Amino acid sequence: MASSPTVLMRLVASAYSIAQKAGTIVRRVIAEGDLGIIEKTCATDLQTKADRLVQVSICSSLARKFPKLTIIGEELVVWVDPLDGTKEYTEGLLDNVTVLIGIAYEGKAIAGVINQPYYNYQAGPDAVLGRTIWGILGLGAFGFQLKEVPAGKHIITTTRSHDNQLVRDCVTAMNPDDVLRVGGAGNKIIQLIEGKASAYVFASPGCKKWDTCAPEVILHAVGGKLTDIHGNALQYNKEVKHMNSAGVLATLRNYDYYASRVPQSVKNALVP
Ligand code: AMP
Ligand code: MG
Ligand code: MG
Repeated sequence: MASSPTVLMRLVASAYSIAQKAGTIVRRVIAEGDLGIIEKTCATDLQTKADRLVQVSICSSLARKFPKLTIIGEELVVWVDPLDGTKEYTEGLLDNVTVLIGIAYEGKAIAGVINQPYYNYQAGPDAVLGRTIWGILGLGAFGFQLKEVPAGKHIITTTRSHDNQLVRDCVTAMNPDDVLRVGGAGNKIIQLIEGKASAYVFASPGCKKWDTCAPEVILHAVGGKLTDIHGNALQYNKEVKHMNSAGVLATLRNYDYYASRVPQSVKNALVP
């Protein structure tokens, strides 16, 4: 695919503006006050009007700008989460919410865009809301200031709304100094790259490929690592199973500290 670097740069540039527009839709739905909540599989698996509108907006914009995307789709796959952290969105925890556009080439996540529509929302009425973080593997990640948790501190970030015994067992085994429970896969990766948390630990199925694709690129672009709970890299080819059945383990630094502390009982319970 001789034109692939050009296609990739055009795709990332488009994803950047498409994600920004998505952020304005996410804010508009809240401002209009009718979230149109639907339960998908259960009370903690929700869809709102914002999820639906953003999905249509992103997909139609991509299709208009890249009519051939399906033709090169064998190699280049775009994973979209129109609204990550929907449960928290419905509960007013607005800075947990992100829009995720991830790009994979031959099964490997190589570019990602994260829009955080409510970044700055507690900074007062004059604050400019929202930001877009983007990255390309081998190039870098932009739109934020890289920060690390103080050396020797083990701060774990994990699910707020999809907790279970396995998730708790795994977090406890890490012997953390602190545990943060927040919504969204995108939001948790932002915590890793901004020095708020040292590891994202989620020992459960539930998280999907569209939750991890863009976030893993941003993390990898700055030297971090995201895998399943066994340490396997995630694959993003078109045919892959959507569910990350074996959970998520991600760190900016000291990946081995956390990977070595995943209990065998947790590994046995989570089949890739
Ligand atoms: P969380 O850390 O709970 O916010 O989850 C991160 C992402 O994975 C969100 O997009 C969730 O919707 C998704 N997710 C995680 N666990 C589940 C689950 N048990 N059911 C549905 N979605 C889930
Ligand atoms: Mg999500
Ligand atoms: Mg979602």
